[in-house]
Amino acid sequence: MTDSTGELTAKEIKKRKRRLPPPDPEALPGLVDAHTHLAACGGRTEADVRAILDHAESVGVEQVVTVADDMVDARWAVAAAHWDRRAFAAVGLHPTHAADLDDEARAELEQMVDDPRVVAVGETGLDYYWTTRSDDCADPTTQRDAFAWHIDLAKRSGKALMIHNRDADRDLLDVLAAEGAPETVVMHCFSGDRAIARECVDLGYVLSFSGTVTFNNSGELREAALLTPDEQLLVETDAPFLTPHPYRGQPNQSYCVPYTARALAALRGVDDHELAHTLGANARRIYKFPLR
Ligand SMILES: [Zn+2]
Ligand SMILES: [Zn+2]
Repeated sequence: MTDSTGELTAKEIKKRKRRLPPPDPEALPGLVDAHTHLAACGGRTEADVRAILDHAESVGVEQVVTVADDMVDARWAVAAAHWDRRAFAAVGLHPTHAADLDDEARAELEQMVDDPRVVAVGETGLDYYWTTRSDDCADPTTQRDAFAWHIDLAKRSGKALMIHNRDADRDLLDVLAAEGAPETVVMHCFSGDRAIARECVDLGYVLSFSGTVTFNNSGELREAALLTPDEQLLVETDAPFLTPHPYRGQPNQSYCVPYTARALAALRGVDDHELAHTLGANARRIYKFPLR
């Protein structure tokens, strides 16, 4: 849009900037994107997945876990993990889609999870943000039932449980405790305060931090990241959302992981290359990646 003089309006300049991908960060070798959505980033063919992963690898992000949101997405995730050695999959139904968990979906997810390229069950958990804001969102009871089923599937399959939690800290930890947590629990896009972080750390859960930890208003989240021990720490994009500062609002992809990893290193007062090595090694151990 232009104003009467033909100049771009400030609003239009801002809008165009939001569509612009962030520049490449300086390379930080050894990293793994612990949670991304390749299909939502445009990776729906072998060539498109390869392009996204080539880009990521060029800045040191060597492998990614691509995560399902619904059944269609779960099939994309498994396909991507077979198209490219650098991608691994997580399969499950996002809590907002928990009502889709019928017998057919259960059977398909059970079959998918046996695939060696599938390293986690999820994302599953509780999302109380969308229950009051979207008519399509599953109600809390349906979410809890589906969450319990996913917890059991993680235990039966021996794969990591990939947790999504939005505005549901207490209930989420209570359901996990009541059902009995599997061996590996990853709190994706950790969003709790330092008390919740402490509780998760003490339970042996893994805390995965996204670009939100770099946002200006996330002091409490930074405290959470600071108290997480090295071996329970992961970094992720949750792309295409949650692009790290100063590119918040612009499109996110796995190649942006180094921005968040560097912010975590600065926060913890450690060398960025050293932390990247630790974060990558953690992901490979936690998800039990097949041999590289
Ligand atoms: Zn999520
Ligand atoms: Zn996600």
